[in-house]
Amino acid sequence: MNLYGDRGNILCLRHRCEARQIALVVDEITLNDPFDPRAYDLIFIGGGQDREQQRIAADLLGKGEAIREAVEADVPALAVCGGYQFFGQYYQAAHGERLPGIGVFEMYTVHPGEVAERCIGNVVAEWEGQRLVGFENHGGRTYLHGSTEPLAHVVAGFGNNGEDGTEGARYRNAFGTYLHGSLLPKNPVLADRLIGLALEHKYGETIELAPLDDTAEDLAREDALAVALRDQAAGSHERLPRRIGRLASWFAGRRAPGGTAGGADLSPARLPVRHGQR
Ligand code: GLN
Repeated sequence: MNLYGDRGNILCLRHRCEARQIALVVDEITLNDPFDPRAYDLIFIGGGQDREQQRIAADLLGKGEAIREAVEADVPALAVCGGYQFFGQYYQAAHGERLPGIGVFEMYTVHPGEVAERCIGNVVAEWEGQRLVGFENHGGRTYLHGSTEPLAHVVAGFGNNGEDGTEGARYRNAFGTYLHGSLLPKNPVLADRLIGLALEHKYGETIELAPLDDTAEDLAREDALAVALRDQAAGSHERLPRRIGRLASWFAGRRAPGGTAGGADLSPARLPVRHGQR
């Protein structure tokens, strides 16, 4: 699955490997493809809406044992949002259907239904003394239990469920998170952690990665941090869906034949400052 630019994580890994002359081969695994747990040094799955999740659930379940075997062999894995939900025990979708997960993490996810507020917005989360930044958009609420540890702790945003301050999950070298964004380009330390773990898996020893020029990445991080903290200060959990609604109305108005651009109140200049600036 791939949602909200999750594919950018692969581009980022490729870039950071190529810049260091590390050969990276990416195999895209789709429905009905076999998955050999001994063939890979890194696993990635992106997010997907309920509809996509319904499409892949049975197939992913069939690969579950192999993926768990790889994780037990310390292959690093990154699972984002809908993919993260499937790394748990189950995802109960908005209409109540329970889709089984592959059980890498001891956790379950319940979507409280279409009328419930979605967890949308920019996120900052504390991870190993550093800050991860990203963007979340999910209806499901995830609850960890047993021995599964959270990946990070929410500084701004909702994270796993908007209640207990946890964000994501970690088991061995498997990382689960709600952060899209894309995640890795804005969090190069996490990208390098995954590359380092993949190399360690392949060669059986710790390999030090050459530092890269992260000026652009640092600027993107700073921007994302500022936006997330500003959203937090403005209490954007309630305001964000309304802003998106207004933007959508504006575009719809522009497209309609003889449309009025949605009325004076919705003109771009009247949208919240943040949109005008970016
Ligand atoms: N469909 C899931 C939810 O809304 C996951 C969405 C996503 O991957 N962004 O909870």
